[in-house]
Amino acid sequence: VVLKRYLLTPGPTPVPDEVLLAGARGIVHHRSPEYSELFLRVLDGLRYVFQTENDILVFSASGTGAMESAVTNLASPGDRVLVASNGNFGRRWQELNETYGAQVTLLDYEWGQKVDPVDIAQALQADAGYVAVFCTQSETSTGVVNDIREIAKVVRPHRAVLVVDAVSGLGATDLRTDEWGVDVVVSGSQKALMTPPGLAFVSVSQEAWELNSRVRNPSYYVSWRESKKALEDPSPQMPWTPPVGVMLSLDKALQLIHEEGLEQVFRRHRILGKAAREAAKALGLELFSLDDPEATSVTAVWVPEGVDGSELTRVMMLTYGVTIAGGQGRVAGKIFRLGHCGYFGPFDIITAIASLEMALRDVGFESQLGAGVAAAQRVFLEEKTW
Ligand code: PMP
Repeated sequence: VVLKRYLLTPGPTPVPDEVLLAGARGIVHHRSPEYSELFLRVLDGLRYVFQTENDILVFSASGTGAMESAVTNLASPGDRVLVASNGNFGRRWQELNETYGAQVTLLDYEWGQKVDPVDIAQALQADAGYVAVFCTQSETSTGVVNDIREIAKVVRPHRAVLVVDAVSGLGATDLRTDEWGVDVVVSGSQKALMTPPGLAFVSVSQEAWELNSRVRNPSYYVSWRESKKALEDPSPQMPWTPPVGVMLSLDKALQLIHEEGLEQVFRRHRILGKAAREAAKALGLELFSLDDPEATSVTAVWVPEGVDGSELTRVMMLTYGVTIAGGQGRVAGKIFRLGHCGYFGPFDIITAIASLEMALRDVGFESQLGAGVAAAQRVFLEEKTW
């Protein structure tokens, strides 16, 4: 039996054929003029998506590698840092900082809730000692997108630098790095940037470089200074051997994003998120996170009472060929997550919802076949273009 497969997870995400093909050509040597030209073009493309003129450092790593670089290159042992966490990836900032010896104050929110910028403002006012504030733009474990514009506003008057994990949000939800004054933005190749996994990025403001100049933590492979040195070489490059094929693919993907235009990319993602939420509600399911128009990367939904969440996602994958994600950490087995950041269009959502309806039947949950699909179709019909 040939089972056609559909990938609807929040990362890694599907990659357009032309992006895959771009990475399939012969290796370009990473110390050649041809590579420098490619690398400079990629940096330009990244600056467009990051909406910044700041330095962008590129690492051969997954998103966590770039997060780790931010921690080791900014916070020294004993430094006070503020972490605002509303899910698994906020928790990762806490764990990384503790691993490297920073003193973490945690603003811990219920999973499914948004970080409240007022709490960050109060914490910073109460204690002027924080060197950095760490938070997450799109909290992939819950589908919640935090309001980075407001968070940046409350951090700006203080000396602390703002570090944002935008691994699943960058390229799906607006993030105006320079206009909003976000010091450090971290992302990865394998989500909204429609590229295979393997590259991760960090944008670094002047204030963040100043903090970096005082850092006492060791760092070698992900040292920001080494990265910057290689960037400033007459032939700009990375300090170590990059995954050249991924870089070639990323170059193509960034070109596609530029052609679509960021505004339209964000609009398309808002429509996809809305269709997924309306479909879930029409099936009588309960959204796990808020019904928020900015929830553009992932839609998280409670698994109905009496249904085993891992069985539901297993049936979708094995019977219907549709891969979605289950819950992580404390909501493992209790929610499922439909990813729609990156190379997604209306019929990806419709396919996922159709298979969800069938799989729900298979696991004993009665909902009306076609009700979710119809709700998604109505959203797309209303919007007309995406
Ligand atoms: N942060 C967020 C918000 C993510 O979604 C992910 C990946 N799921 C990561 C960090 C970690 O990225 P990686 O798995 O690429 O290390």
